[in-house]
Amino acid sequence: MGRTLQNTMINLGLQNACDEAVYQLGLDMEELEEIEEDAGLGNGGLGRLAACFLDSMATLGLAAYGYGIRYEYGIFNQKIRDGWQVEEADDWLRHGNPWEKARPEYMLPVHFYGRVEHSPAGAKWVDTQVVLALPYDTPVPGYMNNTVNTMRLWSARAPNDFNLRDFNVGDYIQAVLDRNLAENISRVLYPNDNFFEGKELRLKQEYFVVAATLQDIIRRFKASKFGSTDTVRTVFDSFPDQVAIQLNDTHPAMAIPELMRIFVDIEKLPWDKAWDLTKRTFAYTNHTVLPEALERWPVDLVEKLLPRHLQIIYEINQRHLDHIASLFPNDVDRLRRMSLIEEGGTKRINMAHLCIVGSHAVNGVAKIHSEIVKTQVFEDFAELEPEKFQNKTNGITPRRWLLLCNPGLAELIAEKIGEDYVRDLSQLTKLHEFVDDDLFIREVAKVKQENKVKFALYLEKEYKVKINPSSMFDVHVKRIHEYKRQLMNCLHIITMYNRIRRDPTKLFVPRTVIIGGKAAPGYHMAKMIIKLINAVAQVVNNDPMVGSKLKVIFLENYRVSLAEKVIPATDLSEQISTAGTEASGTGNMKFMLNGALTIGTMDGANVEMAEEAGEENLFIFGMRVEDVTELDRKGYNAQLYYDRLPELKQAVDQIKSGFFSPKEPNLFNDVINMLFHHDRFKVFADYEAYVKCQEKVSELYLNSKAWTKMVIRNIAAAGKFSSDRTIKEYARDIWHVEPSDLKIPPPNEPRDAAQDKTPNGTAA
Ligand SMILES: *Cc1c(COP(=O)(O)O)cnc(C)c1O
Repeated sequence: MGRTLQNTMINLGLQNACDEAVYQLGLDMEELEEIEEDAGLGNGGLGRLAACFLDSMATLGLAAYGYGIRYEYGIFNQKIRDGWQVEEADDWLRHGNPWEKARPEYMLPVHFYGRVEHSPAGAKWVDTQVVLALPYDTPVPGYMNNTVNTMRLWSARAPNDFNLRDFNVGDYIQAVLDRNLAENISRVLYPNDNFFEGKELRLKQEYFVVAATLQDIIRRFKASKFGSTDTVRTVFDSFPDQVAIQLNDTHPAMAIPELMRIFVDIEKLPWDKAWDLTKRTFAYTNHTVLPEALERWPVDLVEKLLPRHLQIIYEINQRHLDHIASLFPNDVDRLRRMSLIEEGGTKRINMAHLCIVGSHAVNGVAKIHSEIVKTQVFEDFAELEPEKFQNKTNGITPRRWLLLCNPGLAELIAEKIGEDYVRDLSQLTKLHEFVDDDLFIREVAKVKQENKVKFALYLEKEYKVKINPSSMFDVHVKRIHEYKRQLMNCLHIITMYNRIRRDPTKLFVPRTVIIGGKAAPGYHMAKMIIKLINAVAQVVNNDPMVGSKLKVIFLENYRVSLAEKVIPATDLSEQISTAGTEASGTGNMKFMLNGALTIGTMDGANVEMAEEAGEENLFIFGMRVEDVTELDRKGYNAQLYYDRLPELKQAVDQIKSGFFSPKEPNLFNDVINMLFHHDRFKVFADYEAYVKCQEKVSELYLNSKAWTKMVIRNIAAAGKFSSDRTIKEYARDIWHVEPSDLKIPPPNEPRDAAQDKTPNGTAA
């Protein structure tokens, strides 16, 4: 979520009044804003997407809740010590959190472990351990519409009799100490991005949020006119019409067997009825096709923690496979491929398969990704139910990612096209009219320059590093991952460095290369990449032959509040993942909206950015998905590129020989070995095209006017990437709900004065 204060003021239309009031008190609002901790309750793009969706749903007047876990420790704070990443606990609640309200009246029990008893009356899950889920609510205000939605995050609490009833009788002190065991469930966020780690505590977290949330939803349904009946039993027929649950990846996949358990075991609905209601309630968003990221929980672990859910998953699978077998007789291989259960070695549950089977809609997050989902990763499922598969291209909220972070640009745009674009970002196309307006071009360039100076001052103040604000700010910020290819950027830096040294008098377009992002603490290669970037920076930044032509900065602790500072100051946005690996990306959209040009591959939403702006207005290079597939078929041989490209050879040899790590020449052996022998992301194969494309970038940067015109064409084409557009599509195609642009009257202008007044006649 990042910070809340400024976003709240903007969405409530109070920013100027608050700035003024605080100024009158002799304070500076920007300084106050800096005191707030980021809520860092996610890992990267996926969690930030959910945050943008909350803003858009409130702005579009959709009655939606965002559910999650109130981690006591969010994503770690990253420190760089001697060039290495060091993790520090994110104790974000230390000074309290004024934006949340505990709601103990809505606390709910969540069960774990135990066993299942079967009788003619049905299945019963007994002898369980109970953990309480205490909800904390955070308001989510819509933009200028007097609507406030709720983000509800669950915190784990031990019941008061925890451990005292059964085995720990007599040891009161130990029983109190052991309350931690239950409360550890919401202690800390697992820091992996795009990587599955099959730990028991993680499975507990996933079931914890799901079980509490479904009870909360069913409680509200029963309290509504749709759920309340005269008879003893609730009628659930209208449940899917009243409730839509969007699964943000497979992390909440256990919601599917959990809702079945509630319907069948507790509410006593027949299986077929329960299954029909369940499928019509859920929809699933796939966020990645990287095999190491797909959740495949060991059956043994699920059997221990959630024995009844395992039985239900087996029953779902049996019926699912019977159905396939009836359609494709004697196709055993198809049954194996489509099973929810993977046999051979450790028996595992394929959670994506469970989500597809248990949902009425499945979507990818960009056109190219949705195609890969449909034609490659889940081909068999799409063949079975083609109508189920959809695309919903991601977006970002223009409130945080333009108004809040780049007020200069937002105002400049408003001067030209009015303020309505904030709610309807497609109106940015009106800027096309001003592409040749010299004054506007100069003003856009001026705002960028001011943002760059401001960011340079921030770096100087916080980190004592000086950068040249007239150099090109070339920025690569996102989680550190091999598929995102920060290593390719690093090879380009080394190549530029060698060129400067080879011919110091030759014209060189000055660059400040800024790379930032967290490595998962257990991801060795990602941590080595950070160390390498810092080692290269050390050499480049201290070489007198380089001077101010080239600077390399590793940006410590990249997070939402830092993104808000660096993105508006960026000239060049690096979006260079191997084609077919980045599902969408949203960082790419933030940069486009804030007047950076993109150097990127035909991957994720880059493809649609090029489609919207015209390919000639982005720096597109390298292999397409088809080229990657073809290279895989032929067999990728990194050595060939090394032998053929002298500048690549030089850069690699320098890393290998310890040029950047003289005290420890073998430091980067693992990196080099990976690049030559098991580089799944084919860095060498795109190196040449990347370097050539970067030359074109530098050439255009020399012509400030041409550069800024291209920037304007990009901003004018960024309208599609508002998360308001994305959410309208989810609402129309999946949830079947109507957005509303009604502005609810504020409380001091009551719709019905009589109704809203207290007995003594004052406004309520
Ligand atoms: C937007 C954002 C991301 C996602 O960036 P990608 O380039 O799409 O991976 C990650 N982290 C933060 C802090 C962000 O704001």
